Amino acid sequence: MFVGHYGVSFAAKGVDARIPLWLLFLAVQAVDVLWAVLVLLGIEKVKLIPGITAANPLDLYYIPYTHSLVAALSWSALAFFASLRWRRPTSVKAAVVVAAAVFSHWALDLLVHRPDLPLYDDAHKVGLGLWNYPRLSFVAEVVAVAAGMLIYARARRRDAPPGRLGLTVVGGALVIGNAIFYFGPFPPSVGAVAVMVLASYAVFTAAAAWLESRISAGASRGR
Ligand SMILES: [Zn+2]
Repeated sequence: MFVGHYGVSFAAKGVDARIPLWLLFLAVQAVDVLWAVLVLLGIEKVKLIPGITAANPLDLYYIPYTHSLVAALSWSALAFFASLRWRRPTSVKAAVVVAAAVFSHWALDLLVHRPDLPLYDDAHKVGLGLWNYPRLSFVAEVVAVAAGMLIYARARRRDAPPGRLGLTVVGGALVIGNAIFYFGPFPPSVGAVAVMVLASYAVFTAAAAWLESRISAGASRGR
């Protein structure tokens, strides 16, 4: 999955408003950020095989440290303890929300990947293959983002409403990014894919920080 993960970020922000939205944007993609770094270091391995899925040519044949179920649970546990230590006193609830956001990546990837997600190490690979239906998975990602935004906007209606313009700009950027990922030209090499992933996640995280700065400016004006 690509931008659909951010639906979880928005929903999580609705659950606990004290967690910065940019952190939740990073949390849901933490597994992919690590993946891109490990691919650039040559530790995890990918090939580009046109047609391997209808949506993209990613043959993710060795991804045990980031995208196995055991790895995802471990990164999630690490995120839990890091959140507890990060800004004392972080509530246990906030740490659980961040950890769940990190783990959600694997659960949503399970829907779209071909069977290339190992349960542990490099063994017992699973994936439901929605990427073989690009239009359907494109729509599923957009719906996930929209649903998350709706949960967020409803939960924060009273204390810090996110504002239509901000949500439209960020939502629009996510939909455009998603359209390029699904229907634009795919990067020509594995290294280029990893760099594209890191660059687009950086832009989306910055967009989340911008959205949040607008919200706090609006909230302090209202006070
Ligand atoms: Zn992933």
